[in-house]
Amino acid sequence: MATDVLKDMQRGGHEQVVFCQDADSGLRAIIAIHSTLLGPALGGVRMWPYASTEDALRDVLRLAEAMTYKAAVAGLPLGGGKAVIIGDPKRAKTESLLRAFGRAVEGLGGRYLTAEDVGMTVADMEVVRKETKHVTGTSEKTGGSGDPSYLTAKGVFYAVETCLKEIYRDPSVKNRTVAIQGVGKVGYQLGELLATAGARLIIADTDPQRAMLARREFEGWKVEPDEILQAECDVLAPCALGGVLNRKTIPKLRCRAIAGAANNQLEEPADAGRLEERRILYAPDYVISAGGIINILVGLQGGRKGYDRAKAERLAKHIPVTLQAIFSKARAQGITTAQAAEELAAARLEKAGAKKAKVSPRGRKSRRVR
Ligand code: NAD
Repeated sequence: MATDVLKDMQRGGHEQVVFCQDADSGLRAIIAIHSTLLGPALGGVRMWPYASTEDALRDVLRLAEAMTYKAAVAGLPLGGGKAVIIGDPKRAKTESLLRAFGRAVEGLGGRYLTAEDVGMTVADMEVVRKETKHVTGTSEKTGGSGDPSYLTAKGVFYAVETCLKEIYRDPSVKNRTVAIQGVGKVGYQLGELLATAGARLIIADTDPQRAMLARREFEGWKVEPDEILQAECDVLAPCALGGVLNRKTIPKLRCRAIAGAANNQLEEPADAGRLEERRILYAPDYVISAGGIINILVGLQGGRKGYDRAKAERLAKHIPVTLQAIFSKARAQGITTAQAAEELAAARLEKAGAKKAKVSPRGRKSRRVR
C-alpha cells in the first residue's frame, strides 16, 4: 500500500498525504496536499461512505490536484489540497469525530486549510474550529465567510450564460432548458438563480426529499437520477459527484453544453476529446466552480474587519471572463476546452515561480482527436 501511495503521489505531483485515524471517535480520514506553490493548500473536507480506503485515496488525490488548478486559473494566492472522511455523514458524523479531524488539520500547522464539501455544513466547520484555526467557511455570525456554495452557484450561473453565448450568441437563460444533477447546496441555489431568470429546469437527486423540494420551488421537471444525464436540454449542470462524464455516458448525452459545479466530472482525460467529438461544449469544472474558494479567500483576507460580500461577488464576475478566454483559446488553437484551461493554469503556476509545476497528463491527452 505505502509504495502504491507514493507512486500515485509521484504521478500526480502531490507534496504530502496524511492518513488519520482516531479510535475513540472512529475517525478515518485522509488529507492530501497537492501543492503549496502559490499559497496554503485550500480545499474542502468531504464525508462520504467510500467502499474502501483505496477509493477514498483515489478521490482525495484527484480532488486535491484539481484544487491547485482551480486556484491557479482563478489567479488566487492559494495552493491545492483536500480531505476526505470515510463514513456516512447522516449516521457517523459526531462532535468527537469532527474535533478529531480538526486536531489532524491543526497538526499540519496551516499548510492545509479546510472548508465544507459534500456531506459537510457550516455548523460542522464551527465544531472543527474548536480544535484548529485553519478552518474556513465558518459562520458569518462568528466573523467567517459562511457557506461558500452560494458564490459557487453564482459562478456556475455565469458559466451557463457564457456557454449559451458561445453556442447561440445570446447569453440569456430565459426559456433555455438546464438539467441539474444533484440539488444539494450548490445545485439548489443554482436552480433558484436559473428559475428566477426564466430558465426551464429538469432536476434529479438521489435524495427524494431534495428532489421534491426543488421540483416544487422551481416548477421544474423531476426525473430519476439515472435519467438526468440523458435529459434533452441546452445545458447539463452536474452538481453531485465526479466521474459522471465517461465513455459510457457521453454517447447518450442530449445537451449542447456542460457547466456544473461537481469536481472532476471527466472520468479520464480522453473524455474531453469524446465530448469534443460529439460537439458538446464543456466548461471545465474547476474553472467555473471557483466561486467557493473566492468566497473563502475574501473571508481570509478580511481579517478582523470580517468578510466583504461585495468584494467576493465582484471577484466572482471574473469567472465568466476567464471561461470566455478559455473557449476562445480552444477555438483558436484547435484544442479542447479542458486542455486550454490546463495550459492557462500551468502558465499561472510557472509565472508564480513554480518552474517545476507539474502539468497533469490529462491535458496532453485531451487534445482534439480530429
Ligand atoms: P451537497 O452534498 O450539498 O449536494 C450534492 C447533492 O447531490 C445531494 O443532494 C445528493 O443527494 C445529490 N446526489 C448525489 N449523487 C447523486 C446522483 N447520482 N444523482 C443525483 N443526485 C445525486 O454538495 P454540494 O456542496 O452542493 O457540492 C456539489 C458538488 O460541487 C460536489 O462535487 C462538490 O465537490 C462541488 N463543489 C462544491 C462547492 C461548494 O461551494 N459547496 C464548491 C466547488 C465545488
